[in-house]
Amino acid sequence: AELELSKTGWLLDITKLKLGKNIGEGEFGAVHEGHYMGQRVAVKTIKCDVTAQAFLQETTVMTKLQHKNLVRLLGVILHKGLHIVTELMTKGNLVNFLRTRGRSVVHSVQLLRFALDVCEGMEYLESKKLIHRDLAARNVLVSDDSVAKVSDFGLTKVDSKESDNAKLPVKWTAPEALKKEKFSTKSDVWSYGVLLWEIFSYGRQPYPKMSLKEVKEKVEGGYRMQAPDDCPPGVYSLMRMCWEPEPRRRPAFHKLREKLEREMGKLSPG
Ligand code: ADP
Repeated sequence: AELELSKTGWLLDITKLKLGKNIGEGEFGAVHEGHYMGQRVAVKTIKCDVTAQAFLQETTVMTKLQHKNLVRLLGVILHKGLHIVTELMTKGNLVNFLRTRGRSVVHSVQLLRFALDVCEGMEYLESKKLIHRDLAARNVLVSDDSVAKVSDFGLTKVDSKESDNAKLPVKWTAPEALKKEKFSTKSDVWSYGVLLWEIFSYGRQPYPKMSLKEVKEKVEGGYRMQAPDDCPPGVYSLMRMCWEPEPRRRPAFHKLREKLEREMGKLSPG
């Protein structure tokens, strides 16, 4: 994988990287802001060698993906572990963005804009037949000009390959994926429904006050979250479509995008 990357220009030069302050903690290491040849970047460091090898394989997937609603990979640096260099998303993850600003600052047109951004990013992954497996508002980042972009795609396949059920994000994972490890674009659609709920509840934790065990059992039995306060009915009906028990009956991302565009038309005519 190392040779592959250097051949294709994805291997970056450590001497051209200027590291700045810490801006986040990832599961496998810290995230720093920085500059690479004048461009503002985010640098995720993976210290563990074994994990780094696995990540390196997955960044090969990332190199093939380019879309305005996917966080762009600039390349990797191999130096005391692995550094993954991506575009800097100055407004941080979507959960914090919505929680810190709230209803008085972020209005429903902006919420719908975020929903559409994520949907378009996922439509692109769908067209490439790639499954995200960990779609959630915490994995959506917000750019300086307030565009929402999906992140952590490709990478997440690393741990789900080991089918470590204990690690699955239960509140976001479709029932068939939890029970039978049946991941598909349609299980991503289920997660997208939960993400919609997070957006329209301004970054609340889904299934408030319910334990993971309770969520698993109740959702299997047909329980679904209620609409967030002031959520447009049309948007809530989309969530319910995403949460159809039968994966085939859930809408594809391109259908969801059309429906969201219609909702946008109702909110901001013309
Ligand atoms: P992990 O998936 O390993 O838990 P993340 O990729 O989610 O780690 O990164 C952790 C945090 O670091 C994010 O929630 C976000 O606040 C910040 N972060 C990650 N990537 C970027 C980026 N490209 N631009 C700005 N902040 C980022």
